Amino acid sequence: MGDPRRGLLIILSSPSGAGKSTLSKALIAWDPTISFSVSATTRAPRPGEEDGREYHFMSEADFQAAVADGDMLEHAHVFGNFYGSPRRPVQDAIDAGKDVLFDIDWQGAQQIQNSSLGQHTLSIFILPPSIKELHRRLVSRGQDSTETIARRMRKSWDEISHWAEYDFVLINDDLEETGAKLRNIVSSIRLKRLQQPMLSEHVRKLQSEFQEMS
Ligand code: ADP
Ligand code: 5GP
Repeated sequence: MGDPRRGLLIILSSPSGAGKSTLSKALIAWDPTISFSVSATTRAPRPGEEDGREYHFMSEADFQAAVADGDMLEHAHVFGNFYGSPRRPVQDAIDAGKDVLFDIDWQGAQQIQNSSLGQHTLSIFILPPSIKELHRRLVSRGQDSTETIARRMRKSWDEISHWAEYDFVLINDDLEETGAKLRNIVSSIRLKRLQQPMLSEHVRKLQSEFQEMS
């Protein structure tokens, strides 16, 4: 038999503060075979962030060199910094039949969907229950200055305006409920015909069993 299944590129986008990182961590805790695409960024680490875990923190010169060398699957300028998804680890995981999870913005989602890996993407947009709650979450996260929070709030409409470009849209009100919906979506999409390359072989086997019977 061929690969048991083909890896999915699972893209999560939302305005900052709606809960992407929290939901990503919960999804990987549910299925640790999903590998998280650690993005490269030129922004400074937040307290508690570790190089190579949340992000690969790099200088703008190194980032631009990586883009020029074709090492980024997608990249974008967000909130005044560059962000990108390194291509190699994604390709390795997909080749090994593993799913890869991306926490990226709408620009990155569009680039991946338009790439050669586009037919294996699953895109999910996370909406907050209200703008007031979005602001509360950004403040409660306690990791950004008042000025950064205000900037992220001003940009949130830009991100939300792309909600209809995604396969699935979840309103992240109750965290447990949203997590359960996300797991259901991933479980179902893994069963799409295109994700199961071994099906034709299995059907051929069924056919020969039929022929042997007759
Ligand atoms: P993002 O990655 O989209 O910027 P985070 O996952 O960092 O957002 O979430 C922002 C804050 O909101 C965090 O403090 C997180 O614990 C909290 N949060 C996430 N989802 C919910 C939810 N459904 N209800 C209440 N708080 C939430
Ligand atoms: P933050 O600075 O809060 O970690 O991320 C800011 C925004 O950048 C979020 O919307 C996040 O999804 C997006 N982002 C993070 N990594 C990437 C990436 O590799 N590519 C793109 N296009 N966006 C990213």
